[in-house]
Amino acid sequence: MQYDVIVIGSGPGGYVAAIRCAQLGLKTAIVEKYKTLGGTCLNVGCIPSKALLDSSEHFYNAAHTFAEHGIKLADLQVDLPQMIKRKAGVVDANVTGIAFLMKKNKITVYQGFGSFVDANTLNVKKDDGSDEKITTKNFIIATGSKPSSFPSMPIDKKRVITSTEALTLQEVPKHLIVIGAGVIGAELGSVYARIGSKVSFVEFADSMIPTMDKTMGKELQKAVKKLGADFYFSHKVTSVENTGEGVVVKADAPNGQQITLEGDYCLVSVGRRPYTDGLNLEAAGLAADSRGRIEVNDHLQTKVPNIYAIGDVIRGAMLAHKAEEEGVFVAETLVGQKPHINYRLIPGVVYTWPEVASVGFTEEELKAENRAYKVGSFPYKALGRARASMDVDGLVKVLADKHTDEILGMHIIGARAADMIAECVVAMEYRASAEDIARISHAHPTYTEAIKEACLAATENRAIHM
Ligand SMILES: Cc1cc2nc3c(=O)[nH]c(=O)nc-3n(C[C@H](O)[C@H](O)[C@H](O)COP(=O)(O)OP(=O)(O)OC[C@H]3O[C@@H](n4cnc5c(N)ncnc54)[C@H](O)[C@@H]3O)c2cc1C
Repeated sequence: MQYDVIVIGSGPGGYVAAIRCAQLGLKTAIVEKYKTLGGTCLNVGCIPSKALLDSSEHFYNAAHTFAEHGIKLADLQVDLPQMIKRKAGVVDANVTGIAFLMKKNKITVYQGFGSFVDANTLNVKKDDGSDEKITTKNFIIATGSKPSSFPSMPIDKKRVITSTEALTLQEVPKHLIVIGAGVIGAELGSVYARIGSKVSFVEFADSMIPTMDKTMGKELQKAVKKLGADFYFSHKVTSVENTGEGVVVKADAPNGQQITLEGDYCLVSVGRRPYTDGLNLEAAGLAADSRGRIEVNDHLQTKVPNIYAIGDVIRGAMLAHKAEEEGVFVAETLVGQKPHINYRLIPGVVYTWPEVASVGFTEEELKAENRAYKVGSFPYKALGRARASMDVDGLVKVLADKHTDEILGMHIIGARAADMIAECVVAMEYRASAEDIARISHAHPTYTEAIKEACLAATENRAIHM
């Protein structure tokens, strides 16, 4: 069987690429080593983490805010195995949906491990040990990423765990030590802090979510602190040991002294590495770079012209929606279209509560570029909607060009920030000025009024409700 395209990996990059290829009339196959489709995102990433974030938030609100809303509860308890079971059901519904989409679009699914034989042939090793060779005109590599670690923090998947194991724990840790306070650490640390764990974050940088605008990290820390978490910033972990009963984590503090933390689990969330193990890239004339990534040009084409790569396995943000855009981009490129991705406007979201969402330049980036900019911000606590729901923590921060008023960056921490950022992306895609957004009617009462007010604040300090 000769295909037009074989996609290797069925994460959000791979399955979206396959669907778009099929829509465009290309004879398409997809190869996935796991039994279910959907990759990291659907199986052990975006979806299951959000399922647990939602469940744990319900519990937290029931315990801490329902009484003030006038709702009395007695005998409130966490049933973690049930939370994990519900999460598994959510994952199942999503991965089944992808299998349906493959069928609907007449995409052939090969379940097995793909490795290159040459630039047009892939060997698929099935679970029963048999091999099948399939050939194609073009490949799209979408093999994603795996959790990374350092030699000082050996993962044993029992006490020293990655995000994957943190999504299936059967007991609430008494003390969870989270190494890395980036997006994944902040989200999963929040889950367990909300349902009763003591959580300690040990972070090499000097703030939470250090790659985002600094204001967001500062505000998020205040919110997560309210859950009882401790923070050890600018600390370098030197060893992590599974003692059988628990874990001991040692780290160097900025003052040169060593700290020792004892807990029952240690979540290592220090980033992810591109995954090409066993793919036999060399047989296709390819090699991974020093950081394990597959190099691509502006068309997402590798140095072998009929082989493309997308998603976490190449440069750029490791985000599901970035991988999806790249999947569509390659499919359309293959049929001679001229697609475009605006990488500057890929939003980033942290699904803590309050949520954090961001698009465009951070204030630190603008300073580093010596850009003349102005800032407008507006706090959630001044919103009627936020007071009604008791979600008063947070703010919207708008960065606009000092001379032209064009919006350069928008950063939100607050209720529903993840959904609100879409307005900001649209505004920036159409190169709106802060005043453009300030003059658009926003429904009252909504959280989105904070975006309008922050834009008013950036426009000659004209916020109405401040
Ligand atoms: C806990 C967690 C939470 C996250 N939350 C979010 C979020 O909220 N929003 C967001 O945008 N991103 C989130 N991410 C990141 C997101 O999951 C990734 O950016 C996204 O999955 C990358 O998609 P991909 O298609 O490049 O690769 P992946 O989703 O990693 O898929 C790659 C697939 O390729 C398969 N594969 C690999 N090698 C082979 C081979 N040789 N043969 C056959 N199959 C192979 C793998 O089994 C896998 O299924 C999260 C990640 C984690 C871990």
